[in-house]
Amino acid sequence: MVSAGARGVKLYFGHQKLHARPLDDPAHASLFEWLEQRSVPVLVHVNTVRYRDELARVLRAHPRLELVCAHLCGSRTDLDRLAGLLREFPRLRVDTSHGAGLPGVDGFTAIEEDRDRLRALIEIQPERFLFGSDLVTARGAPGDLDAARAWDLQLAANLGLLERERFEFWRHAARIGALTPGVYFGLALPEPAVSRLLGGNARAWLGAYRPP
Ligand SMILES: [Zn+2]
Repeated sequence: MVSAGARGVKLYFGHQKLHARPLDDPAHASLFEWLEQRSVPVLVHVNTVRYRDELARVLRAHPRLELVCAHLCGSRTDLDRLAGLLREFPRLRVDTSHGAGLPGVDGFTAIEEDRDRLRALIEIQPERFLFGSDLVTARGAPGDLDAARAWDLQLAANLGLLERERFEFWRHAARIGALTPGVYFGLALPEPAVSRLLGGNARAWLGAYRPP
């Protein structure tokens, strides 16, 4: 795929449902070695509640990987885990995206409660956080206005989290399992950090790669 023009890869294998074997299984070693030697941009989705130690062993064995770990490296509900990963692996970058529906609600809710800490982590090292790298677009059928509106809301909320004092998205309602339109406190990151997250860091990550 790289010789056909791919400029990077996304690996889903840290998703609970796609975790066929440990991330650091010897069967993956030659792939990581290849990606590391060529500085190919790699995006991984890893559930670090379950697979943090497997990911850590991959990063220790392949310290030059150009790796972005999605959804605050699966640690948006545990910023201690995120801070520990950033400290231990100085080349690791993380993405700030949240999915539609419940994953978004749970992520935005957890971050809102701990937003001063996340803002501090970003302001110390803004070059390590990227907007939207794993913001998966689930496109509806042509003319499906509900799907289009859901995507617009998801995109605006992910931008709002970084840029604004407040942004809108679904929230947990008083009744268990119900969602209602609501408002969250955002990070309202200052310049130049916000511009780096929204574009500059992606240019650095993707632009360093020289295809064969
Ligand atoms: Zn993901």
